Amino acid sequence: MKYLLIVISFFLLSLPTIYGKVKVCTTTSLIQNLAQEIGGGFIEVENLMGPGVDPHLYKATASDIKKLRSADIIFYNGLHLEGRMVDVFESLAEQGKAVFAVTDGIDRSSLLTLGGNAGYDPHVWFDPDLWSQCAQKIFIELKKFDSQNAMHYQKQTDSYKASLKNLYRWAKELADTLPAPSKILITSHDAYNYFGSAFGFQVIGVQGISTVSEAGLADIISTIDYIKKHKIKAIFIESSVSPAAIERIAQDSGAKIGGKLFSDSLGKKGEILDEYDVGNYLGMFKYNMTTIVKNLK
Ligand code: ZN
Repeated sequence: MKYLLIVISFFLLSLPTIYGKVKVCTTTSLIQNLAQEIGGGFIEVENLMGPGVDPHLYKATASDIKKLRSADIIFYNGLHLEGRMVDVFESLAEQGKAVFAVTDGIDRSSLLTLGGNAGYDPHVWFDPDLWSQCAQKIFIELKKFDSQNAMHYQKQTDSYKASLKNLYRWAKELADTLPAPSKILITSHDAYNYFGSAFGFQVIGVQGISTVSEAGLADIISTIDYIKKHKIKAIFIESSVSPAAIERIAQDSGAKIGGKLFSDSLGKKGEILDEYDVGNYLGMFKYNMTTIVKNLK
């Protein structure tokens, strides 16, 4: 009996190597990181957009299509973040491919709407609670696809959700050290609305919600006026967006550039900034929050 148990457990442990790991393909480095946290050693992830790549503008290349086709499961953000890849996902889904938007795991009532018929704001990762719901979506789909390792995915998910809860607590405490009038965050584009509502910041993105259109002169002038009127000390450039508009606003308004924030992409793998590993979500988030608080104080 004991021998049988040993054989069975050896067999179970070696299943991933017998059957191979689940092949996952993701679009952004944020989703790549999230999938890796949930899948642990049981999946292998191919990612399409590297650090600093802007998902609003990204078009799939021929080699991307190959990667997408050979994946067992595809996870993308959705809510039109990958605005120029929508057709690709639709056609893959029609062909029976397992394609999932991680934001489908979020209760619609928790999403921020854009004006008119523009749909929802896609930058959900800046609220750790919403990101936790995306983690759950990845968990559900991995469990469905690879049910024999469900326990493993469950354990990974529980542990990562606890990390996200701790991150929220840590970030809230730090944000609350700023007096309310200083909690104004000005950046290149509107990536931080969820961040603003989670941590009590008023948020202004000069280029609007997508980076498809560049900042207009009127936007630049009104931002300069706003900065002068509210005596804002610092504004921020973003890692995946051209800094031109922010640099010009800084010059003409007298506000300093408080540094580079990560918006729609993580840093390079293992890249350490101010003691934080910005190649993963938790480190990136902490780096952003400390940079913001330090410069607005
Ligand atoms: Zn964006």
